[in-house]
Amino acid sequence: MLFGELVKALAAIESTTQRTVMVKILVSLLKKAGPGEVDRVVYFILGDLRPPWEGVELGVAEKLCLRALSKATGASVRDLEALYKRTGDVGEAARRAAAQSKRPGLLALAQQRPLEVSDVYDTLLKVARAAGEGAQDMKVSLLASLFARASPDEAKYIARFVVGKLRLGVADMTIIEALSEAFGVSKEALERAYRVRPDMGYLARHVAERRPLEDVKIAPGTPILPMLAQRLSSPSEILSKLGGAAVCEYKYDGERAQIHIGGGLVKVFSRRLEDITHAYPDVVKAVREAVTASEAVLEGEIVAVDPDTGDMLPFQELMHRKRKHEVAAAMETYPVVLYLFDVLYVNGRDLTSEPLIYRRVALSEIARETEKVQIAKWRVFDGPDGIDTFFHEAISLGAEGLICKSPASAYEMGARGWNWIKYKRDYKSEMIDTVDLTVVGAFYGRGKRAGLYGAFLMAAYDPGTDAFYTVCKVGSGFTDADLKKLYDALQPYRIPHRHPRVVSKMEADVWFAPRVVLEIIGAEITLSPLHTCCLGAVRPGVGLAIRFPRFTGRYRTDKSPEQATTPAEMLELYRRQKKVAAQAE
Ligand code: ATP
Repeated sequence: MLFGELVKALAAIESTTQRTVMVKILVSLLKKAGPGEVDRVVYFILGDLRPPWEGVELGVAEKLCLRALSKATGASVRDLEALYKRTGDVGEAARRAAAQSKRPGLLALAQQRPLEVSDVYDTLLKVARAAGEGAQDMKVSLLASLFARASPDEAKYIARFVVGKLRLGVADMTIIEALSEAFGVSKEALERAYRVRPDMGYLARHVAERRPLEDVKIAPGTPILPMLAQRLSSPSEILSKLGGAAVCEYKYDGERAQIHIGGGLVKVFSRRLEDITHAYPDVVKAVREAVTASEAVLEGEIVAVDPDTGDMLPFQELMHRKRKHEVAAAMETYPVVLYLFDVLYVNGRDLTSEPLIYRRVALSEIARETEKVQIAKWRVFDGPDGIDTFFHEAISLGAEGLICKSPASAYEMGARGWNWIKYKRDYKSEMIDTVDLTVVGAFYGRGKRAGLYGAFLMAAYDPGTDAFYTVCKVGSGFTDADLKKLYDALQPYRIPHRHPRVVSKMEADVWFAPRVVLEIIGAEITLSPLHTCCLGAVRPGVGLAIRFPRFTGRYRTDKSPEQATTPAEMLELYRRQKKVAAQAE
């Protein structure tokens, strides 16, 4: 197909204000393109060379484009810059420059050897792939060779394309509609295929070659559209929507990851189908160690964890992975855990239509739990009792709430249906003051904390019962020196069992007689079934806990354990803490 024909269609699309006309133009263009070139035409219209997750970038800024234009037309870069400034559109600048070209015979050359769509596309692919030393000059030369053969209108669209400003307003769904009409295939079938393989170029070629859409299958390496969740705010509503029973899973607060294993590679795709493998080399390594299948598509949430305690951290901590040059350092300082919650494909078998319960079993068969790969915590409920307790447990440990799923449901690609329902809070609270808590137990440290205690079990003192009630397990905020100091300071109080005045549901590695008091702050005071402070005071079966607790650095040597914060004060703080709106969805 002549590139000129594509350009005419682009100009027509640009000038219409009616969507139906736009689709009509696309239909006749796609028909004309034929199986050989239809994918290139589609990618070009969408402003890409390849599907977005392949990350094929032209790497051409306006300056470089003008340099290429100058080389092709003989106009000076300065004049071109002025022209660009005047018109405000690199395409218009290119069009005028090509029309006024000072290079003799240029037009004649263009007419002799008019550009084909494949000439333009293949050259642009070379531009994108030029790398290393001399890449810039190479890009300029390749582009100049195109501009030299382009008509003014062709130059306009090439220039806009290369600087990423094609902006035709054509989306994947518009192309689906046009493909359906052009090749007489049902839109629904196309949409289904798109959810499995959202690669418009691939699909266009597939239908142009008259191959059945049922043949479009999950392909490891190509992300599929993720299943999404609805939202409700009470366990009974959720259960009645789900038909009486639910698989409830922790809703981890991190980044969604679709993990593809195949052809010896492991790739990580984001919720928006971008390839984010480069940000998580540690996840790739951990998946290789934990997953036995040679081909698989898995879903999970990547969560930042405290390197010293393994406790979950808020998702903001993942931001350090977003800057390329920081990834290596971030792996040390901000390690992550992958919590797997689904498996969609294993060794050639599409599991998406299998019931969730079956997929969950398949997941534990192919994934071994390691320090860095865990299976998302889940429980099955057949009544609303207990869901709230599980929910509060999730929140107190740093998760956002629960995702409740229908046990018999298939994996519905790209759908936000009622088979997945999220249950989270409408608000968050903010802890308004520090508290002074007594160390009643400790947990052995790992990694660089080996040989010391890595975290401490902290308790409030109730004068009414003369007992200590646990509030949190804290491992953050301690320097190496603090840990050494605490290890030594606690030695004299070490006892072989829980102290009789300590009420705890948690089993510590080491127990102490109450003596050392530390100042603690946290993100908020939450309900938790894991701790005994104020057990049952707000809700039956749950106590109060501190979420994301941290040592402030202050040793309260001036306070005896009996002068530490009381459960009554904890309850008061819980009631008084500031309510803030939860993040917008
Ligand atoms: P959405 O993804 O639904 O458009 P969102 O990005 O704001 O919206 P939420 O609606 O808060 O996210 O929740 C859905 C997200 O929860 C999922 O996309 C996934 O990243 C995350 N998630 C955490 N744990 C789970 C789990 N166990 N099962 C499914 N999703 C989970």
